Amino acid sequence: MVKTASILRDLVAIPSVSSLSNVPVVNYALNFLQGWKIERHPYTDPAGTAKLNVVARTRPGIAGLALVCHTDTVPFDPDWKEAVNPKIRGGKLYGRGSCDVKGFLACVLSAASKIDPQELTTPLAVALTADEEIGCVGAKFLAKKKALRARHTIIGEPTGLAPVRAGKGYALAEIVVRGKEAHSAFPASGRSAIGDAARVILALERVSRKLASRRNRAFDPSYTTLNAGVIRGGSAKNIVPGECRITVEWRPIPGQDGGWAAELIREELAALREKDAGFAAELEVKRLDPAFAPSRDDALAGLLETLSGRRATTVAFGTEAAHLGTPGAETVVFGPGDMTVAHKSGEFVPIDELEECVTYLDAAIRNFCA
Ligand SMILES: [Zn+2]
Repeated sequence: MVKTASILRDLVAIPSVSSLSNVPVVNYALNFLQGWKIERHPYTDPAGTAKLNVVARTRPGIAGLALVCHTDTVPFDPDWKEAVNPKIRGGKLYGRGSCDVKGFLACVLSAASKIDPQELTTPLAVALTADEEIGCVGAKFLAKKKALRARHTIIGEPTGLAPVRAGKGYALAEIVVRGKEAHSAFPASGRSAIGDAARVILALERVSRKLASRRNRAFDPSYTTLNAGVIRGGSAKNIVPGECRITVEWRPIPGQDGGWAAELIREELAALREKDAGFAAELEVKRLDPAFAPSRDDALAGLLETLSGRRATTVAFGTEAAHLGTPGAETVVFGPGDMTVAHKSGEFVPIDELEECVTYLDAAIRNFCA
């Protein structure tokens, strides 16, 4: 039997930043799923790069348990030598994706390699997705094709091995503020888009306060957060700026319409226009991913709580759970590692959490598929 840490070492050594093809990682994983029924769902991304989603099942039909894992990682600093040259130090494995989320993938492959697919009476499914880090593209692709149906689903993400039953949604938008260019010596003949953008920023603070008035105590922070993360405007020091763009994201709590923040922003923009007819700004929503609400069934979360001794919790980050969970069935986000060390240089996963995770996956497979 191959050790989980050495599987993870192999996985980290295969670069799979979202801009690259994920086919090499998927092909590596398929070596551990011999004798399984493999369904391939390939697509080509906008840059022309081949992407591959796979749904593997031990037998046809609705899975008793599905293990879902994305195969891409966020980019890494070229100065971080261990990014694709993984190292083990002090009981931790360092490398890009070790935590998010090749650690979980290594556990899935380790657990799967111990299984004789013929032995399980209820189907076990493993789904591998592409392009999670750039907007759950592969998961949405699979969801559209209804390629995965399961009574219980584990979506792999670093949760420190605590079962997660709910997560916030994710929305991304751009506000385009239009002014009028003019020579800066004659500002009265133009209109500063940056000046108007400043009014928009203050309006966004009012929106944030309104969003914070509705709470879901299961979350920390307990409300829909909003962030104006990027602002770009103007072209030169001596030109009155003609355009300014503000990138805004918000993370809706479950039970709240994800479009509420957009409504509030549009109301504020309309009010600014009401006060000043020259004001021109528009909101364009680019992405609105639903929140992940808790399932009624909690058999899987309960099992993972008992096994791990960790209480079920919630997360503030977006996952594939909102897309790939089977409606009416149970979905849990779960995996080794801590999300706060992911997406940065020095990302790592504790080795003992890998082995712990494999034993929980073994138990879940026996419980829902044997
Ligand atoms: Zn992830």
